[in-house]
Amino acid sequence: MDLGIKGRTALVCAASKGLGLGCAEALAAAGVNLVMNARGTEALEASAEHIRQEYAVEVITVAADVASEDGQKLLIETAGEVDILVNNAGGPPPGTWQDWQREDFIKALDANMLAPIALMRALVPGMMERGWGRVVNITSQSVRAPIAVLGLSNCARAGLTGYVAGTARQVAGKGVTINNLLPGIHATDRADSLDAAVVNAKGVTLEEARAERAAGIPAGRYGTRSEFGAACAFLCSQYAGFIVGQNLLIDGGATNITI
Ligand code: NAD
Repeated sequence: MDLGIKGRTALVCAASKGLGLGCAEALAAAGVNLVMNARGTEALEASAEHIRQEYAVEVITVAADVASEDGQKLLIETAGEVDILVNNAGGPPPGTWQDWQREDFIKALDANMLAPIALMRALVPGMMERGWGRVVNITSQSVRAPIAVLGLSNCARAGLTGYVAGTARQVAGKGVTINNLLPGIHATDRADSLDAAVVNAKGVTLEEARAERAAGIPAGRYGTRSEFGAACAFLCSQYAGFIVGQNLLIDGGATNITI
């Protein structure tokens, strides 16, 4: 399917691996040129080169911590006039509700709420002036139903979701859509590290931890980055201009809710 976005430019944050990489690959497959970001250079350069070879699009890399003001400044300067912004960063560590101190909350808010807000504030005005833009924020299923051990994520993502709910409706009239994708469990490094925490806590093997988690997902498996990326590319397509301020769960049915 031609998504109608060939030749557009996207900034994809935290994109050297995992869900961000899935989004970058799907956008590249639709002919979108990329500015790809991650903290380290090695995996970022490897993923960027793979995408250049595979999809023949232009790819610029920016190694920077998107959670830091310096990183955001560098990304905004390098990205210039982007049509598409995919906000993403690593998720906060697990714990219990009494563990977290003020500094832990500030770190989570910086990465998973304030960084996407800063990039939207910087890049959405240009999209509005040009009359077309797409923003997709990668959040979490924890927005719809809290995940007890991820209290920091529950808080930061809820804050971002509130910001998007109000903002999306203020910019839609200029051809810019902002939506959130809510991943459930996907087979990425993040899922590995959460499963490793279960291994330590319960004394089971990694395979047992994965099987137990997969059994709780109606689809019976973890999601893949390419499935996730395809949903992102659709939300960034010319066909998604009437989808505004939505929160789309991609979780294999794991979140047991009616709407
Ligand atoms: P991941 O850990 O597999 O990938 C992380 C990617 O982000 C890497 O490319 C890494 O370099 C980059 N990154 C991390 N922090 C960064 C930062 N501060 N600045 C720049 N780059 C950074 O993670 P993932 O599984 O792809 O998850 C992406 C997001 O989705 C995370 O916020 C995660 O919490 C959330 N999420 C993931 C799952 C899942 O099952 N994978 C489920 C729910 C929510």
